Amino acid sequence: MLPQEIIRKKRDGGTLTAAEIQFFVDGITSGDVTEGQISALAMAVYFQGMELDERVALTLAMRDSGTVLDWSELDGPVVDKHSTGGVGDNTSLMLAPALAACGAFVPMISGRGLGHTGGTLDKFDSIPGYVTQPDNDLFRKVTKEVGCAIIGQTANLAPADKRFYGIRDVTATVESIHLITASILSKKLAAGLQGLVLDVKSGSGAFMPSHQDSVALAKSLVTVANGTGVKTSALITDMNEPLASAAGNAIEMKNAVNFLTGDAIDPRNWDITVALCAEMLLISGLASDRDEGTVKIEEAFRSGAAAEKFSQMVTALGGPADFIDNMEDHLKLAPLVADIHADGEGFVSAIDTRQVGIAVVELGGGRVRAADAIDHSVGLDNLAGLGDKIDAHRPIARVYANSQDQIDAAAARIKGAYRLGDAPVESGTVYQIIDRDTE
Ligand code: URA
Repeated sequence: MLPQEIIRKKRDGGTLTAAEIQFFVDGITSGDVTEGQISALAMAVYFQGMELDERVALTLAMRDSGTVLDWSELDGPVVDKHSTGGVGDNTSLMLAPALAACGAFVPMISGRGLGHTGGTLDKFDSIPGYVTQPDNDLFRKVTKEVGCAIIGQTANLAPADKRFYGIRDVTATVESIHLITASILSKKLAAGLQGLVLDVKSGSGAFMPSHQDSVALAKSLVTVANGTGVKTSALITDMNEPLASAAGNAIEMKNAVNFLTGDAIDPRNWDITVALCAEMLLISGLASDRDEGTVKIEEAFRSGAAAEKFSQMVTALGGPADFIDNMEDHLKLAPLVADIHADGEGFVSAIDTRQVGIAVVELGGGRVRAADAIDHSVGLDNLAGLGDKIDAHRPIARVYANSQDQIDAAAARIKGAYRLGDAPVESGTVYQIIDRDTE
């Protein structure tokens, strides 16, 4: 087989066979296929698309390009969640321990933030001592003994996607739903899951802001993942405002601990986290329907069982044993703290959530390039949500920064991101659930 013939076939609208896709992906991994050929195929797929069978074959070939984890020694379902990314989206921090408290195993391999969205791994890096890159034995031990382990990539998972994605990123070919599907799923499926729930964000802070695109991506992900034999469904959830009332790494960690202990729970975050967890219990057979899943998860949070699992995971991965009880002593927050007030009064009628994420990046809490170092101590909390009444007493946010210049820049960015109106507007939570039976 020749790579150029495979590219030509796709360029002309043909359907690639599984063998052709396997050959091309093998070449991506080995280096036998050149960067030029990879970008040409990506552009051909961008314009011509891929049939379901081609997407399944691409996902499986990229999954199998490196290590595929095997959890057969565990005596319970192995599930995970993947979010397409957002602002103030710290659900994983509460979700994994809550699922573990209900009998599921959640070996969560999470990523760092890039662009305006935050990354789960960066949030855990704000805990002193917590090892986000444990060796494989420790990862397996913690998953088995605690039931959940949130870590960064240790094994060589889906290396073909790593090379392919890097080339798509610089050739304007990221925005293909078919390629995004194979890219996301190859990495998740390499983690050896039996069930997967996707949180596909829709709205001003989402990777794909349009609702229509989010639904199309969710349907593609659900169809392909089920086609590979992994039970999968997707929730389309709102990202027209930050999910938690906090954005930044240590600040979102603090928000998550307050959620787990019940000290302060953002209502939208509760609704979306519970809905995702309930879906995961259903997918893994630990609940017979979504209502039963909801009851079980709410009990895991309210009883403190989820908080206890979180604490065990933090300790097992090297964090402080008293992290939950003495969080303020362990989480470093930036020294300058200031309220950001709007210029006028009224109800929050729209938020450009992407800009809120960019404010955190500009404070130093996020990265523009994958290799950038970040400051875990900066960020925002007390973020107003849609419909909140803003006046002289209610700021739109509070900023944690290292200099007055940073505070001024964040204030300008946040004020520009918030629109005020005369009447309250409603917030969204879960818009739609897409499972393999959805038309
Ligand atoms: N995230 C991924 O992992 N891959 C894509 O293609 C886009 C977003």
